[in-house]
Amino acid sequence: MATPLTLPGICWPLHASTGHLAVTTSHITGHFRAGAGEDAIIVCDLLPAGKFRNGAARHWCRTHQCYWGTQADLAGCPSAQPMQCRQHASPMGYVLYPTLFDPSQFHATTLRLGQDGLIRLRARAADGGALFSRDLPALAIDCRALPGLFPRDVVQLNVTPAAAQAFAAALQAGAPLDCSDCARCGHPHLDLGDFALAPHRRHSCGHCGHDASHSAAPIVSTPLWRLRHHITQCF
Ligand SMILES: [Zn+2]
Ligand SMILES: [Zn+2]
Ligand SMILES: [Zn+2]
Ligand SMILES: [Zn+2]
Repeated sequence: MATPLTLPGICWPLHASTGHLAVTTSHITGHFRAGAGEDAIIVCDLLPAGKFRNGAARHWCRTHQCYWGTQADLAGCPSAQPMQCRQHASPMGYVLYPTLFDPSQFHATTLRLGQDGLIRLRARAADGGALFSRDLPALAIDCRALPGLFPRDVVQLNVTPAAAQAFAAALQAGAPLDCSDCARCGHPHLDLGDFALAPHRRHSCGHCGHDASHSAAPIVSTPLWRLRHHITQCF
């Protein structure tokens, strides 16, 4: 395969129960056919994440949101090659050169999920009140404008279709929403799919793979919850 490209972008697994929105880099590395789509191949981002129950060393792939290090993983990955998780060839959703939205520059900001799956961003410029209106597959919220909401190493909060859908579904179902931070790395936890509809206490971290952070009560966790004081209407 050709050399992967590193570009400003947002990517997300098409099927995952956790996600990683609060990113420490605005760039992604992979193979892209267009400016946006659901067919990107993104390189693994593996980091040590404790041990499996049988004592074997475990890694977490931040890109594909899965653990690595089972016997099958080891057998499929000769030591001379770079480590790859079992999802390394799975197509991913992506947007290159995403809109970077700075909430401090706007007021009356609303984010909604359209029938077409696009995220509708509407806002008024703080200076002059001009309407800012975009329909986007995904976007990034500039966290430098929101000190204290997330750990200092977070540069932006990615709003992905999966996160928007999960948040909207949890709101509609009346699930208790909150945002639980990882006990190890402090990054905010995101529940997706069925986890966004079934409140639970034990959360596993999409940033570092730590799987034993507990919220005080059973909740559905999403970092988007933290935006509620900065965005007038969020899904
Ligand atoms: Zn993070
Ligand atoms: Zn991977
Ligand atoms: Zn959870
Ligand atoms: Zn963590």
